[in-house]
Amino acid sequence: MNNVDQHEIAKFEKMAKSWWDPQGDFKPIHLLNPLRLAYIAEKANGLYGKKVLDVGCGGGILSESMAKLGANVTGIDMTTMPLEIAKQHAKQNGVSVSYQQITIEQFLTEQQAQNAEKFDVITCMEMLEHVPDPLSIIQSCKALLKPDGILFFSTINRTLKAYMLVIIGAEYVLKMLPKGTHEFEKFIKPAELLNWCDQAELACKEMVGYHFNPLTEKFWLNKDVSCNYIATVEYV
Ligand code: SAH
Repeated sequence: MNNVDQHEIAKFEKMAKSWWDPQGDFKPIHLLNPLRLAYIAEKANGLYGKKVLDVGCGGGILSESMAKLGANVTGIDMTTMPLEIAKQHAKQNGVSVSYQQITIEQFLTEQQAQNAEKFDVITCMEMLEHVPDPLSIIQSCKALLKPDGILFFSTINRTLKAYMLVIIGAEYVLKMLPKGTHEFEKFIKPAELLNWCDQAELACKEMVGYHFNPLTEKFWLNKDVSCNYIATVEYV
């Protein structure tokens, strides 16, 4: 069984063309990216020369920005068009990223067969809430991470506030995201994520929430994880 929801993949295929349009479907991600990139780079003690895996990389907004900071980035996703867009964009901008259409479970099998070096940093942003079995993703990330490596998961809490802000606010009122991008039932409570990390023998070092002001179009981070949040995870 592969851990992929084809209905989810189809949604992202449709969004491929506008992936790099700062005013398009990924406008919130474009606005957020500098903030999350700085956060990841700081927690990872810099990205220069690091071996990085970006799981569910889509059109490569985060992958490319990490590569620009000198990381050696591999981006994996199960879409076709977004990965093509990612490859073209990297090429046009003279950035080197290795993109592959593969599940993390299959990628792990291949890496193990090749006895490949593990990763210093793994990012899995805005992806867990789109897969059938998030635990399997987390376990595969653990297996691909160096013992002193660092992992980042970002997702959306299953709260009324997140329903109001992400689904009603962003998809219906502000129309910043296409309707149906998110399914409330698949949002993940921090306690659930922590439990999965526990099962994968990973420890969460920090959890921060990120917040958006639609008037100023600015994002910021703080301790409030009632909506969107990022977990920083390491070996136990
Ligand atoms: N991580 C990127 C894109 C987030 S959108 C960013 O934050 O900028 C979610 C991405 O997860 C989409 O590109 C989608 O194709 C991908 N995805 C969903 N299910 C997947 C799976 N099982 N394996 C790999 N990628 C998946």
